[in-house]
Amino acid sequence: MYENYNVVKWSWENEIGEAHQPKNCVKCGKCEAACPQKLHIREDLEKAQADLDRKEMIR
Ligand code: SF4
Repeated sequence: MYENYNVVKWSWENEIGEAHQPKNCVKCGKCEAACPQKLHIREDLEKAQADLDRKEMIR
């Protein structure tokens, strides 16, 4: 939202425990089945991880 890539990347890598990292998603779909907003969580997690895996800043 604030386009602060470095803060988001740091939080993503340091505030989320290893067991809960998006890279560990097995794409079971349970979260999407439970989501009242019908978010595409599996796809969005994959996109977010791909963005954060990029070596250089987005902007
Ligand atoms: S699809 Fe959702 S519930 Fe299943 S592992 Fe991934 S994030 Fe967790």
